[in-house]
Amino acid sequence: MKWLFLLTFLAGSLQDTLPVRFSAAFDSGCLGEVRRIDSVLVRPSLTDSVLHLSYRVISRSDPDNPANPDLVPSGRWFYFLMENVRNKHIYLNFENTDPKRAVYSYDGKNFRRFEHYQASMRKVSAYFLSDSVYIAYFVPYGWAFLQERILQWTGSPHVVMDTLGYSMLGLPIQMLTITDRSVPDRNKSRIWIHARVHPGETPGSWQLDGLLEKLLSDSPQARAYRKHSVFYVVPFTNPDGVIGGYSRSNARGINQEVNWDHPDSLTAVEVKALRNRMDSLTREKPFDVVLNVHAQSSDKISYYIHTQESTSQDYFRREMYLAYLTTDDNPYFFPEDMFYSAPAPRYVEGWLWNRTQGATLALTIETPYSFYNGNPDGEWVTTASLKQFGTYLLRALSDYFQWDVPGRYIINGTVKGNRTVYKKAALPRGTYRVFTWDNAWIPRETIIRKRDGAFRYVIRSEDQSILLLE
Ligand SMILES: [Zn+2]
Repeated sequence: MKWLFLLTFLAGSLQDTLPVRFSAAFDSGCLGEVRRIDSVLVRPSLTDSVLHLSYRVISRSDPDNPANPDLVPSGRWFYFLMENVRNKHIYLNFENTDPKRAVYSYDGKNFRRFEHYQASMRKVSAYFLSDSVYIAYFVPYGWAFLQERILQWTGSPHVVMDTLGYSMLGLPIQMLTITDRSVPDRNKSRIWIHARVHPGETPGSWQLDGLLEKLLSDSPQARAYRKHSVFYVVPFTNPDGVIGGYSRSNARGINQEVNWDHPDSLTAVEVKALRNRMDSLTREKPFDVVLNVHAQSSDKISYYIHTQESTSQDYFRREMYLAYLTTDDNPYFFPEDMFYSAPAPRYVEGWLWNRTQGATLALTIETPYSFYNGNPDGEWVTTASLKQFGTYLLRALSDYFQWDVPGRYIINGTVKGNRTVYKKAALPRGTYRVFTWDNAWIPRETIIRKRDGAFRYVIRSEDQSILLLE
């Protein structure tokens, strides 16, 4: 018995003395240089000791960009494995990146935030309980995981998978077409969504995952969504970037987001594939909505709204309508969180504007890595809240198009005007809570929703103040 104890003890000591190993040769893995700063053995008691180790982790930059040499390659994304860390307290000091509070996982699937962190200093630390631990900027969403999800999604009779073309390294650029095929397409809303142009922006994928999960569910709402729409979804527009663990570029160093107006020689094959399919589908009939899904270092969800001056009054009204509908009854996203810009042809939005003159409403939507609405005391971003936000985005699209969906009531008119013209059957008698955004961009549009057995009556008019009537 004694020798067994001795062996265990020796094995334990051996573990302590094994050097920590860093690696990133896996799907979405990314690591630059690592340098040990410090190593201190702390002995809380005679029989106990804990090794404290500090490292500088210098994140790897994307390759130089041949299409836009003036753009500094980003090094934001990191995702690496540390081995021989059990019973050690490890301090990581990140450089060439900006994580407010990185995540870690013992199994590569279930990630959690570091409890000890200094957001402004880009530092985290933890005492690890397992031999190996994965560390990432945010919860990864890699190529292999997408293939698992696509296998599940294509099990649905409402999904057809297609390949738009191949990346530079030969990976398929996959597209899912989702609709209820028993209903003719003629009057359906056409919606295109693509994500992971910037491969480090994994929150966008979690959001889209939530949207797709809801859209493909068996709920009465999802069945209605599919009857009224055709969704064209490209989950990874930059598969080489995802698998290679790049931050904002493809394997060639090109930032695909600003590559839509380049000469052929400097246009990524991935952008060409996307452009070809969007072009042929637009010739059939312009998309009603295009969403370009990203994640941002700003601590909020945002749409990039194109200003009225740079577009048109009607286009701007439609943008704000969709934007405010997305904030409606949404704990993560608020009207003040928008960004404003002008469409430029280097972006997909500008490229579409030039083709359709506003017939297609094209918007970038950004999700944060950290927390929502600029509030560090609020909820930190999780994959669960991002997925939930995806369902709110889907609901907003449904409201925008005024699809006939169980549980949603759409009214034209305002309370003051007393024009209660119901799209659906008249509501039952009852008490309504009334919210008014005066001077909002959606005059004369009202939504009523059943919630916990009660109805909430939302009125939007002209001045952003909120009036609550019980
Ligand atoms: Zn982006």
